[in-house]
Amino acid sequence: MNCKQTQTLVAAYADGEVDALRGYSINKHLRGCIGCMARYQSVLALSARIRAELPYFAAPPALHARVRATIGAVRASVPPQPRPTSDRWRWLSGGVLAGCAASVFAWMLGTTVVAWRANEDFAVAAVAAHVRATLGDHLIEVASSDQHTVKPWLSARLDYSPPVQDLANEGFTLIGGRLDYLERRPVATLVYLYRKHTVDVFVRPETSRAQTSAPRSVRGFNVARASGQNMDWLAVSDAESGVLSTFVQRLAGEDASR
Ligand SMILES: [Zn+2]
Repeated sequence: MNCKQTQTLVAAYADGEVDALRGYSINKHLRGCIGCMARYQSVLALSARIRAELPYFAAPPALHARVRATIGAVRASVPPQPRPTSDRWRWLSGGVLAGCAASVFAWMLGTTVVAWRANEDFAVAAVAAHVRATLGDHLIEVASSDQHTVKPWLSARLDYSPPVQDLANEGFTLIGGRLDYLERRPVATLVYLYRKHTVDVFVRPETSRAQTSAPRSVRGFNVARASGQNMDWLAVSDAESGVLSTFVQRLAGEDASR
């Protein structure tokens, strides 16, 4: 085992992924080579740091389901192999196809996870903003139940114009609005009162990653999301999740009965 071979395998060795015979040879080389030993120590240190410092996210069942669906879709998209002209060609084309499928899968999986994380991050940021606003005295910056007052106030401070509706006749009374900064961008927040619950609705232009998702709970608050009118709508409240979900779909102009 020389330095080049050792350094190629040192990360796998640190992860306990090389067979016993190779492990023995690598170990023997490391004990006699300062350079490779330093490389090995730095790999160990990095893996310890990753374990200690990176947050661990448990994937929710919905993500599990989407990853499984992605795997199924990729399997279905790989065409049957053409009849090989020779064994060597079969081996080659099989390898290339497997490589393509693996790349497509990695890309689709990556996109799924990134989209999920982006949505998750936005929901967590929205809940944090809701908590900050309700605990501080920052709940409302423009106090009005008049949508014709709230909308221009927000539009003047943003590069988009969020639709504002008062749904008092459905139990959701508009009490005002404010600006929040979520993911380093100003976002329109509409504030409603439903019975004794404050409902914050964060409205921003729709992004390709935004999606309607089942209502769920983030840090003890219910979060419901909808898209419509080219906007991404996210409601946060301690009001009941079914009520919140119907409300946010109504604001987005979705048909709640669908
Ligand atoms: Zn060496």
